[in-house]
Amino acid sequence: MNAEIIAIGSELLTPYRLDTNSLWLTDELNKIGIRVIHKAVVGDSPGEMRSSFHHALTRADLIIASGGLGPTDDDRTRETVSELLGRKLRLEEAIVREIQERFRRFARTMPEINKRQAMVPEGATVLPNPRGTAPALWLEEDGHIIVLLPGVPHELKSIFESEVRPRLARISGDERLFTRDLRTTGLGESDVETRVRPLYQLYPDTETTILASPTGTQLHPRTWSRDASQAEKLLDEITDRMALALGEHLYSTDGEALEEVVARILNENRATVAVAESCTGGMLAERLTNVPGSSSYFLGGVICYSNDLKTTLVGVPQSLIESKGAVSSEVALALADGIRKRTGATLGVGVTGVAGPGGGTPEKPVGLVHIGLADEHGPRERAYRFPGDRERIRQFASQSALDAVRRYYLFPAAARA
Ligand code: ATP
Ligand code: MG
Repeated sequence: MNAEIIAIGSELLTPYRLDTNSLWLTDELNKIGIRVIHKAVVGDSPGEMRSSFHHALTRADLIIASGGLGPTDDDRTRETVSELLGRKLRLEEAIVREIQERFRRFARTMPEINKRQAMVPEGATVLPNPRGTAPALWLEEDGHIIVLLPGVPHELKSIFESEVRPRLARISGDERLFTRDLRTTGLGESDVETRVRPLYQLYPDTETTILASPTGTQLHPRTWSRDASQAEKLLDEITDRMALALGEHLYSTDGEALEEVVARILNENRATVAVAESCTGGMLAERLTNVPGSSSYFLGGVICYSNDLKTTLVGVPQSLIESKGAVSSEVALALADGIRKRTGATLGVGVTGVAGPGGGTPEKPVGLVHIGLADEHGPRERAYRFPGDRERIRQFASQSALDAVRRYYLFPAAARA
């Protein structure tokens, strides 16, 4: 069974609101074996809506629409779909009474315009909305199912869960989607693609999506199957082969964030970490403390943005900053070593770089970041050149600093070389 989702609402065509309902719905539909083959976002215009529903009816077994069931004039989904299907709308008194009752519970009287929400197309099944006034509607037309849901996310979710999912699960067959979430860092999207592409031909029954982000590239191998154990076995095999191709760049096969992986590794090694951050401005500490229980491995840190604080709080010699510059290997080494010594942490991390957009020079361009890592034998350092704007450079820097900690424990020989 395949589906199309139509998200309705002019606000979804502005830069201020994102259609998140369809993401949630896609996940829910996949779980009961329904593939989403098309999505549309359309404004409140009846003409545009009619055309979206018309096209959806030519290609999808199931059409799920969200939004436009409200009481105001711009909420036109009900009317548009009835008209397209040639069904009359009639006022259902029982629904009017329910809406009135709902208003009474909140000590209000129902405005006359809310009666529109009690209009039901001929032949439609009314799905009650315990969280709001607009009931959802289920229609069948020439072998297609059309479900109209309210746009308010928590109302949509609750009706889907109580009314729509059980009905769909009965008719959707027993095929299910199985998937893995592999996360890499330190490789660009095309490098990842080049490494895993040869596997695609070996596994024609799986489809792999690649997602690039400033914190790394994700790979999601997916397969549809009626046999759960066979599907899991297939995905395990692909994951193993991908892991081989990606080597030390792969940090998770089940969608863990890098800070979660680092937390696990530090706990396993009974190690602690402290940070001295310049260009990341606390982002690294923020990510380390994202993980519940972070007090067991994160001691704290210093945001030493000014040269003075690098000296007074972390002990970086003023002469070093003057001779080498604040963005330099030497200062990264001194930051890592200084914060480690001052806090007594197992590891000290120092980050200094040029996040831009200003402040770059030919020798020290925007995107240059030095990351230092110190243990009891002293500090080491690596220089990076990150692409992108200020935000991306800072994200890359925090990711690479976390990765330095991961590599220190998992690939000690390489990390210490
Ligand atoms: P109601 O019947 O409760 O008035 P409705 O069906 O008319 O709801 P809308 O008025 O379209 O729904 O949307 C109500 C709220 O839900 C708005 O804040 C809107 O931004 C949000 N919303 C609508 N559609 C979506 C969507 N696809 N994804 C996320 N939020 C949405
Ligand atoms: Mg609306």
